[in-house]
Amino acid sequence: MKRKQITMLIILSLLFILLAACGDNDSAEGKTKTVGETEQETLNATTDSGELSGHTVMIDPGHGGRDPGSIGINDIYEKDLVTNTTKPIEKALREAGANVIMTRKEDVKIPLKERRSMSNEAMPDAFISIHYNSFEDSSVGGFHTYYYSQEKEYRLAQSIHQSLGNAISLKDRGILEDSYAVLRNNEVPAILLELGFMSNPEELAVIQSDEYSQTVAEAIVRGLKNYFETNENVSS
Ligand SMILES: [Zn+2]
Repeated sequence: MKRKQITMLIILSLLFILLAACGDNDSAEGKTKTVGETEQETLNATTDSGELSGHTVMIDPGHGGRDPGSIGINDIYEKDLVTNTTKPIEKALREAGANVIMTRKEDVKIPLKERRSMSNEAMPDAFISIHYNSFEDSSVGGFHTYYYSQEKEYRLAQSIHQSLGNAISLKDRGILEDSYAVLRNNEVPAILLELGFMSNPEELAVIQSDEYSQTVAEAIVRGLKNYFETNENVSS
């Protein structure tokens, strides 16, 4: 009987040591990099040579959550179309080496002031808000670029607008000055893009396509590249 008890004690001790060793393993794993960190490093490594490397861009997908934005034909919500477009934009910017910050990643309502505060805290090199338009006259169509301050962001507006104009078939409705809440008191160069009318049936068919979003994404990358290059030339 006594020997059995001793054997049991030894077995229990061994089990305890084994468990403790497993615990050590856990803490060792805690110190190793997470998959996310490794991915991020790979991304940084591959993007050092990217066209937009060294630049931070904030993308602001308009509306979200309880705020659907404009409602187009077939009850299509602006917030959903915006999400379709901002995902490829985010991807294209990352692939070009930019550090990208999104004001919203989920379908949530974020107050305009909060979006602006995010920009003023992060101080990106450019802030781009993405929207779609709607109008009572269904024949109205085209894209606009808005800016607030002539000296701070007109060149950013010009560069992106021109690049979009070269890439998309929508009517060019021009570059306009407006005091949108996300642009006003935004300390960095900030623009707002209205990328088409959801109230125009022909235009809706175009802007709903993945191809359109991809074209817009590539045009934004080219526009930013041109803007940053000109900016660097101006300051040097
Ligand atoms: Zn909007």
